[in-house]
Formats: sequence, C-alpha cells, structure tokens
Amino acid sequence: MGIIKDNIEKVLKEIPSGVELIAATKKRSVEEIREVIFSGIKTIGENYVKEAEDKIEAIGSQVKWHLIGHLQKNKVKLAVKIFDVIETVDSLELATLIDKEAEKISKTMSVLIEVNSAGESQKQGVSLDKVYELSQEIAKLKNIKLIGLMTMGPVVANPEQIRPFFKVTRKLFEDIKSKLVVNQEFCYLSMGMSGSYKVAIEEGANIVRLGTVIFGPRER
Ligand SMILES: *Cc1c(COP(=O)(O)O)cnc(C)c1O
Repeated sequence: MGIIKDNIEKVLKEIPSGVELIAATKKRSVEEIREVIFSGIKTIGENYVKEAEDKIEAIGSQVKWHLIGHLQKNKVKLAVKIFDVIETVDSLELATLIDKEAEKISKTMSVLIEVNSAGESQKQGVSLDKVYELSQEIAKLKNIKLIGLMTMGPVVANPEQIRPFFKVTRKLFEDIKSKLVVNQEFCYLSMGMSGSYKVAIEEGANIVRLGTVIFGPRER
C-alpha cells in the first residue's frame, strides 16, 4: 500500500462532492484494483470485456463496474451480464442488441451514449447531430435505462484545448435532460481523464475517469 492510495487522496481533495471518480483500470492488476478499492473508490472502469470478466470474478460486486471501452457486438451478451453500466453505446443497433440480451436475463441495463464530441473520423461515438435522435430511440427500449452521456474528446497538448468539446457535450446533455420526460434518471455526464479532469469538472462533468494520475503511466 502506498503510492496508489496517496495519489487517490490527492485527487479526491481536488474533486468537488457530487463528482464521482472512476478508476480506469485497463491493464492494471487485481492487486492494484484492490488497493484502489481500499482507498475508497467505489466504481471501476474497464475497457475490455474479457479482461474485465476475470477481474470481476476475482473482486466481485463490492464496487460498481463500468464498461468505458468500445463494445463489440460479439461481446454484448457477456458485457450485459457482468457490467453495471455500459458507457459506450454508439448506435441504435448496439442498443437494440443490449436490450435483447438484458431482457433474456431480466436485467435493466444502465447505459450512457458515447459522444464523438470533436467529430473525429477515427473515434468511436455518435456524432453531435445524431445524439439527440439516438437518445429518443433508446428511451423506447424497455430493458435499457439511459442515464447519461460520455465523451473522450480529442488528444490535446494543453487541457484548455479540450474545453470546447466538453462544453458542447454539456449543452447536449442539458438539452436531452430537459426533453427526455420518459427517463427521469438521465443525470450522468462522464468526461475528463488524467490530463483534462479539472477542465471537465468546470464544464459540468459529474463522472471523471482516471488512470494515469492514480497509477502512473501505463507500461504496456
Ligand atoms: C484509459 C482511459 C481513461 C483514463 O485515461 P488516463 O489518461 O490514464 O487517465 C479514461 N477513459 C477511457 C475511455 C480510457 O480508455
């Protein structure tokens, strides 16, 4: 025990109450995740369904598990089974598959729509002009609960450069929230990583996903 706990305590001091810190634990070991939990973190974000399966089996449901990486169609069944929240829904097709698998196991799957806020062609996520329509379609699915939006934003040298993309995602979030009468639990805005979480919080994020500031740089 040591560095991870120190890092988390430092970050938690900078994060206002009401903002949830998700530890982004891709490529981190079960032991590292245990230390994160020991330090008071209640939600773990994983990128890969298979990798998460082993960790969830070892650690269990003492924490919430979020899928924060892209979800392939052939992994939907397993993802629905093991995750509490899928943050990366980016098409109606994917949402429909999730809905079907959730129905089979009598689960209501909580999801976020991933927004491609900078309109980058190589990035996952829904383009800004399609998010509202997708939210309305997802709201009709019976076994899915749409609880918010997530965005990565572009890789930038200076965190200030990412601010406009967080701003525009926030605006969309407020817009959907005000119109989505069907779903009262639409309340999460997941944006901000190690280099950008302060800006993200200023722009309204209430979930930040942090890896590097907790664990140090990834080696693999
Ligand atoms: C890895 C990852 C993070 C955390 O990134 P850091 O820069 O290490 O904090 C957050 N969100 C997603 C989707 C990630 O894949």
